[in-house]
Amino acid sequence: MTLKLHNTLTGNIDEFIPQHGNKVLFYSCGPTVYNYLHIGNWSAYIYWDTLVRILIADGYEVDRVINITDVGHLTSDADDGEDKLEKGAHRENKTAQEIAKFYTDDFINGMKQLNLIMPQHLAKATDYIPQQLDLIRKLKQKGFTYQINDGIYFDTSKFPTYANFAHLNLNELKAGVRVKFNPEKRNHSDFALWKFTLNNEKRDMEWETPTDILDNITDEKIMGFPGWHLECSAMALSILGQTIDIHTGGIDHIPIHHSNEIAQSEASTGVKFSNYWLHNNHLKVNGTKISKSLNNGYTLADLAKKGFSPLDFRMFVLQGNYRNEGNFTFENLQSAQNRLRNWLNIAVIRHQINDTIENDNDKIKGNKTVLLFATSQAIIEAANNDIGTPQVLSIIDDAFSKIENASLININRHAFVHLLETIDDILGLQLIDQTPDITDDIKKIILERNQARDQKDWSRSDELRNELTKLNINIRDNKKDSVWSYIHQNN
Ligand code: AMP
Ligand code: ZN
Repeated sequence: MTLKLHNTLTGNIDEFIPQHGNKVLFYSCGPTVYNYLHIGNWSAYIYWDTLVRILIADGYEVDRVINITDVGHLTSDADDGEDKLEKGAHRENKTAQEIAKFYTDDFINGMKQLNLIMPQHLAKATDYIPQQLDLIRKLKQKGFTYQINDGIYFDTSKFPTYANFAHLNLNELKAGVRVKFNPEKRNHSDFALWKFTLNNEKRDMEWETPTDILDNITDEKIMGFPGWHLECSAMALSILGQTIDIHTGGIDHIPIHHSNEIAQSEASTGVKFSNYWLHNNHLKVNGTKISKSLNNGYTLADLAKKGFSPLDFRMFVLQGNYRNEGNFTFENLQSAQNRLRNWLNIAVIRHQINDTIENDNDKIKGNKTVLLFATSQAIIEAANNDIGTPQVLSIIDDAFSKIENASLININRHAFVHLLETIDDILGLQLIDQTPDITDDIKKIILERNQARDQKDWSRSDELRNELTKLNINIRDNKKDSVWSYIHQNN
């Protein structure tokens, strides 16, 4: 299967070819753990999880890092402002360490709820301080660093291709359109590798600055902490190696964070940092940017309070393409929930059919049989076309509507189960796990009802239907079959 991906590095849809046979080295920029993730943040992880699932379905072995930024991400891109972790600590009257632990645990919990595949490495920035200092050391030896009053900076003018990745116009940057300018910085686009704890500052997380990374050696102990961009480069290089296959993040990362990651990594190693760069567009809420002031950054817990499960939200996200801006509204989420519930009610049909002797191909002539093996293949193909989740969903809708309208006898159980497995593998919606068979006792009631119906004993049949309703089971009578499904309750 040829996987095609939109590569920000080339601006094209490129065929994906990993460097090392079937192994894929994959780095995803992870959360800054100072607050709950909002639905916009989660949408990104859902798309990248889908990519992981596609790679696995294609037979690749994925070695993936998601970093946990538990120090050093400042509230301003200008390398000043408060460290987000310290800010969270002040807000909640806790230490930065406590904040990091609480929101890291919450992130892991959310990943589980959304059925995101755990990465091989969930790497905390604070566990990689020596590697980050080593990277600064290498950059210093190669002449890329300089020291100013508040830290050690990367000199972007020494990395001539700095502007290429994001097609930056450095002259415009000079005019100050991007960020406030620290007058000691040599160039507007220079960024902090290591920040010093200033005299008046009290920080929970800080490390002694090794003297060999300083330009001005002093006897005085200088405490400091790493820059956010440095964390990602150091963890990617030390865990995955000098050149990785795929790097992901939000589109907001292109001009600063990823341009900086590329500069530091490539300046230190002399080789290309990542072959494929993928970026997800942003999710809006009611057509508006998610922002603190609007209080529209809903969390998974906010959705649960309104009766929507994490997998309802996952379905909502998959309805859009990762490269398009998304728009969240509760109406849209409602229609995703309806779609998922409808799919679950199709999935239970597998408990009500038997394997037929003929396989799909033999039945083509009979033309009543729903052809399902071809559907599984079509799903994989659509997914491989730049993570084409909306197309995957419409292929499934088509197949499911055929199943819904077919007589049970015309559905091959083996092929249907295979289709459900393919859908679960690619989309992670847990159609199979969420739809266990009903108990023998319930089956008995259904059988009894069918008999009453055959005998035209309508009052007994209605009575038994009511009994089933109380057990959250619905019966749909087709021409030939009576098909049961669940009645979904809002949580
Ligand atoms: P932040 O906490 O704003 O630094 O965002 C953390 C991650 O979530 C980054 O990778 C952003 O690209 C991503 N992100 C932030 N807001 C959104 C959004 N509205 N939609 C999608 N991704 C977002
Ligand atoms: Zn990053």
